[in-house]
Amino acid sequence: MVQKYYDADADLSYLKGKKIAVIGYGSQGRGQALNLRDSGLDVIIGLRPGKSWEEAEKDNFEVFSVSDAVKKADLVQILLPDETQGPVFRSEIGPFLRDGASLVFSHGFNIHYGQIVAPEGVNVFMVAPKGPGFMVRRTYTEGKGVPALIAVYQDISGDARNLALAYAKGIGSTRAMVLETTFREETETDLFGEQAVLCGGITSLIREGFETLVDAGYSPEMAYLEVLHETKLIVDLIYEGGFTKMRRYISNTAQYGDLTRGPRVIGPESRMAMEEILAEIQNGTFAKEWILENMVNRPVFNALTRADEEHEIEAVGAELRKDMPQFKNL
Ligand code: NDP
Ligand code: MG
Ligand code: MG
Repeated sequence: MVQKYYDADADLSYLKGKKIAVIGYGSQGRGQALNLRDSGLDVIIGLRPGKSWEEAEKDNFEVFSVSDAVKKADLVQILLPDETQGPVFRSEIGPFLRDGASLVFSHGFNIHYGQIVAPEGVNVFMVAPKGPGFMVRRTYTEGKGVPALIAVYQDISGDARNLALAYAKGIGSTRAMVLETTFREETETDLFGEQAVLCGGITSLIREGFETLVDAGYSPEMAYLEVLHETKLIVDLIYEGGFTKMRRYISNTAQYGDLTRGPRVIGPESRMAMEEILAEIQNGTFAKEWILENMVNRPVFNALTRADEEHEIEAVGAELRKDMPQFKNL
């Protein structure tokens, strides 16, 4: 069984008197930095001049250049976009790390695929919240937390696990649940999850369903409500109580269709595609493709993003949501 940790297993005093530099102030950077400060810890921010810098100052943080923040810090939490971490690490972080400092990540990509090679004299560990930054913040202010993964890659101080747990407590995650994993497992499962199921799988499923209905002559509005809008209602039930709870709430007709037709939509062919996708993650093919894509200014990323933004489902959805009061403040 995987080890689970809660508040009582974590001791904030491992971080007392230590300076934490959060590098980046985007989704995770802002959420984690605010929570750590509210937990009584000493937090500074490292950035380049720009929008995030202004935002961090508005939130009353001391902001420094990346290298200056790193020079001052006992812990350096790297919350830059994954694809920029390697180059920024090589020029602005690595050379300025204090001996004995801790290098912290919220995703294992750069360590696992060798884009960041940490110096020998530092701890390397991960605290990866399993939710977006705004949820990390929102749940914390409600006295709750987002579950997180911790993993220790390099332990030179002998207390890297305790530091990781203390950090997880500082962002509120031990209030929910913290699981221990490895950089490899976190990286590969995270990439697989977002590609095959959470982001790639779901958007493809919805898009194909929408196009099938619209191509058959049904109105785009009906198709949108049916295959996109209702997704959330079903997913919320699955989230709360698994397939069993969801099936208690749908009609018997829906349940029979679910059980007999679902495996025809996502069947052996999809399973084979999933296994291929996992193999590309495991053997580095995906990582290499994404790193090279960034070196040539993302032609594929930009073209495919634009194509999906221009898809009919997006325009229909935007119009419908305008007329639904529940979307007024989103
Ligand atoms: P964001 O894209 O939201 O934020 C990136 C931040 O880095 C911004 O503040 C940006 O500032 C800054 N930045 C970008 N380039 C540079 C640079 N060259 N020098 C200095 N600062 C720079 O990132 P995320 O929060 O999404 O991701 C951070 C990490 O967290 C990643 O490892 C990701 O995998 C992980 N993670 C993310 C989750 C999420 O929900 N988003 C969930 C779990 C983990 P500027 O305004 O100047 O561009
Ligand atoms: Mg993920
Ligand atoms: Mg991810």
